[in-house]
Amino acid sequence: MKSTPITLTEFYHRFPKADLHYHLLGGVRLETMLSFADKYQIALSELEAKAYYRAHQKETGIVKGGIEALTFLYQLMQEPSDYARVMREVAEDAHACGVKYIETFWNPSDTVLSYADVNTALADAIDNAYNELGIVIRLIPSINREKSPEDAVAMVNEMIDSPHPYVLGIGIDYKEHDAPVEKFWKAYRLAKLHGYKLTAHCSEFGLHWRNVETGIELIDVDRIDHGYTIIDNPALTQKYAQRGIPFTVIPSNTYYFKQWPSHQDWCQHHPIRAMAKAGINIIPCTDDWHIHNTTSANCYRVMVEDFGFDIGSLKQMMINSIEASWMPDETKQQWLAEWSHEFDALRANLLAEPTIAPDMKVCYRR
Ligand SMILES: [Zn+2]
Repeated sequence: MKSTPITLTEFYHRFPKADLHYHLLGGVRLETMLSFADKYQIALSELEAKAYYRAHQKETGIVKGGIEALTFLYQLMQEPSDYARVMREVAEDAHACGVKYIETFWNPSDTVLSYADVNTALADAIDNAYNELGIVIRLIPSINREKSPEDAVAMVNEMIDSPHPYVLGIGIDYKEHDAPVEKFWKAYRLAKLHGYKLTAHCSEFGLHWRNVETGIELIDVDRIDHGYTIIDNPALTQKYAQRGIPFTVIPSNTYYFKQWPSHQDWCQHHPIRAMAKAGINIIPCTDDWHIHNTTSANCYRVMVEDFGFDIGSLKQMMINSIEASWMPDETKQQWLAEWSHEFDALRANLLAEPTIAPDMKVCYRR
């Protein structure tokens, strides 16, 4: 029986994907934000809420930073059922575009509820999502680096006091400028001692590559989130490419949109392309799904249609995402076989492979 041909758009939506850099609250839908405000009688007009979402930038004239949105949203989530709702919606949105696995960050130091209460609500919602949609979701409590290193240690102690099999490791996010990762060495060391995996937002916002180096050499992270300025140091780039250190990269990163307002310049000069060309282990991720007005399918579409990667490159990135995930090896082996098979079958049904200008084309194989 002949299979039905599919368009590129369908292909981006249907091939299996893992998102390893996903902030839970970046996945809050606008209507959900409004309904929480209503539930707790917190003054928030629709226009004010829209100001947090890039999709409404034209209407509101501004976009408040993702960080501001996250801080605000934590105050709007006052009952475990709120977290369950968000997790449910995150799962639905991701499932609708072919995502099979997510590792999601949340910030325990910012919540109104206790660590244990939030974690239980999230874990129960993860079980429901798996049973109903088959999507697998795991958790990464993340340090708010704008708070103190002692708050970060307290977060890890809470993880140790209330362990849960879905909690795989720790991360760090928020504004990096005055809070490089080494400031939080104690929390990282404690987490590592207790068997947790480590990742860190390093060199986001165009900050110096030494933050990546510190994350890898001193903190001994398993992954880097962002890390774009590593390309300013060719020797280190080569070293980390050879070591295969995974970097989660975000095509919708705000900093680079501001850096190159011209779409053409942005496409050409985005460090994601240079990282790939240098052989860095990159994994495209969404970061703040609704706030950035993106999806996992869109993320991969951008890799092809804006950054010039061919379809074989997407398969390499899909493989990278499985290998860099924190699931057991046995699961990863199974996913590698199943997802690759699914990818190849869908690719064989493509109506046409994308046409990429020769001067833009990147064939990314590691
Ligand atoms: Zn992030």
